[in-house]
Amino acid sequence: MTNTIYDIIGIGFGPANIALAIALEELAPQLSVRFFERRARSVWQPGMLLDGSDIQNHPLRDLVTPRNPRSRYTFTNFLHEHNRLYEHLNLPLHYPLRLEYAQYVSWAANCFQRQVDYLREVIDISPVAAADGTLIHFRVSCSDGEYDARSVVLAPGRTPNIPEPFNRTVDTRVVHLDNYLPALQQMKARGGDRVAVVGGSQSAVEILLHACGESSLKRVVGITRNFGYRQKDTSPFSDEVYFPSFVDTFYSASPEHKERLRQELVHTNYSAADIDVLNQLYVRQYNNRLLGKDQLMLLTCMETEDCESSIDGVTLRLHHFLSGKTVDETVDLVILATGFLDLGVGPKREPWPHVLKTLSPLLGAEHRTIEIGLDYRIRLRGAANRGASLFLNGLCESSHGMGDAGSFSLLALRSQSIVRSLCQHLQEPVVGTACS
Ligand SMILES: Cc1cc2nc3c(=O)[nH]c(=O)nc-3n(C[C@H](O)[C@H](O)[C@H](O)COP(=O)(O)OP(=O)(O)OC[C@H]3O[C@@H](n4cnc5c(N)ncnc54)[C@H](O)[C@@H]3O)c2cc1C
Repeated sequence: MTNTIYDIIGIGFGPANIALAIALEELAPQLSVRFFERRARSVWQPGMLLDGSDIQNHPLRDLVTPRNPRSRYTFTNFLHEHNRLYEHLNLPLHYPLRLEYAQYVSWAANCFQRQVDYLREVIDISPVAAADGTLIHFRVSCSDGEYDARSVVLAPGRTPNIPEPFNRTVDTRVVHLDNYLPALQQMKARGGDRVAVVGGSQSAVEILLHACGESSLKRVVGITRNFGYRQKDTSPFSDEVYFPSFVDTFYSASPEHKERLRQELVHTNYSAADIDVLNQLYVRQYNNRLLGKDQLMLLTCMETEDCESSIDGVTLRLHHFLSGKTVDETVDLVILATGFLDLGVGPKREPWPHVLKTLSPLLGAEHRTIEIGLDYRIRLRGAANRGASLFLNGLCESSHGMGDAGSFSLLALRSQSIVRSLCQHLQEPVVGTACS
């Protein structure tokens, strides 16, 4: 343990806190900051870096451009510094390849190496109080020690959603899509050749296509409770959900209106896929039929009732909700493309990320729900506070709207809101140029 009290500790060094590091350098370089990242380096969703797949955001909605287009950390400057600008602009693609955007994210992260401790996982955060009980700062506990900071910005990414019946199974052959590529390699090393993909999202369709391209796989089964794989709502009107102004609209809406907006707009990003991958999957299925190949099987209208492990594999009991028939499907690997949890109470929600458990009395344990300001600062209850601040960066879909956790679109402006609020609570000036 050190005696240093940092102004800020950032937990996680994925896109959300990389965007914050850039904003801090450009707007408040006087603040002392350390980031803790549990991986060995910053890589963007490495378990889903599928060859040939593209990103789902306009590349200019990157880590910084919407806040400061003149920054050296823009995607455009990344291309320029790698001498690829013209070649990139000449690509016959709607959006960039995930591989290239992931390289951009790692490149930006590497510019901040001196502020980041890799292979350092945060296990807990606890309050530190003065003799009179006033909260003065936080203690961040890691596997290798404890570190103190006046403010903490938590950006660990969302918790994977593991629905029933899979949450009753402890089996390394049942994994969330976060781990698709390593799990596929491990399955192949064990001699397995049957994969099931549960869910109807963009990722589910991408994984099905990728798995079909693996010639060693004998069976690739897609399982969805929907009638078919649904197309995303890409109407430009609906896509205004990713505008900064939508954050204000959503944040100030009543709980009933938030739910109504969510239901209407959910398919802009969730439980649906882009037309290019849907078309590829449909053609793949038809092509297989022409060739008499049964590698790909798409099972729709299917609820998974049970998931049982045995030496032969993982057996899923599937119930067709229209016919009432039940079938068993045994595979060597189950990939859950079943989404992520939002904050709150109810289905597909968690009250707060696990790492905040010790702070729960300050978070509103009696209501099991966190109160978050428009500036992403958690309202701490109970104790008097001498400026200690706790922020959520990239976990606020339930309070701030659909563009918050599931997209790059608002990362840059969100980091500006957080930096401004940090400076206000640390009583420090914003020194750089900020967009209004
Ligand atoms: C498969 C997939 C594809 C996506 N594609 C797109 C896309 O094309 N366009 C788009 O706009 N959005 C996309 N998204 C959403 C996008 O990933 C997020 O917008 C972005 O990754 C969020 O960044 P983040 O930093 O909040 O979380 P993450 O990217 O999850 O990063 C969180 C980081 O925190 C670290 N961490 C977690 N817990 C701890 C801890 N306790 N201690 C230390 N470190 C910790 C993790 O190792 C990780 O590096 C995609 C999401 C997924 C899952």
